[in-house]
Amino acid sequence: MPDCLFCRIVAGEIPADIVADNAGAVAFRDLNPVAPTHVLVIPREHLDNVATIAADKPELLGDVFNLAAEVAANEGVADTGYRLVANTGRDGHQTVFHAHIHVLGGRSMTWPPG
Ligand code: 5GP
Ligand code: ZN
Repeated sequence: MPDCLFCRIVAGEIPADIVADNAGAVAFRDLNPVAPTHVLVIPREHLDNVATIAADKPELLGDVFNLAAEVAANEGVADTGYRLVANTGRDGHQTVFHAHIHVLGGRSMTWPPG
């Protein structure tokens, strides 16, 4: 998808602070972090949201979640804990329609979120 922001980051057309990657997924820092660790993990392939990954490319889920765990370990939050968030659709306040998981940590993540 040429006009998709995250596809363009995967393609190297838009700069991003990439912290890790594997065969199926790429991880980069969120432009507007809301926690000391705020990294986005996305499939390389364009899929609209996590439900679409599960429906159309379930074989990519391992790469996405393994990379999220690797990021948490690299960031030093695996032991203290972290939150994985997949905002989906309007009420979930999804703003970029290329599937992504937020890896959030480095502070106590209050619950419920606002
Ligand atoms: P969503 O609200 O769709 O779950 O999250 C999209 C995230 O992408 C937001 O947290 C936003 O800060 C981040 N974001 C938007 N544009 C860019 C960008 O150009 N580069 C990076 N690294 N993050 C972005
Ligand atoms: Zn895309």
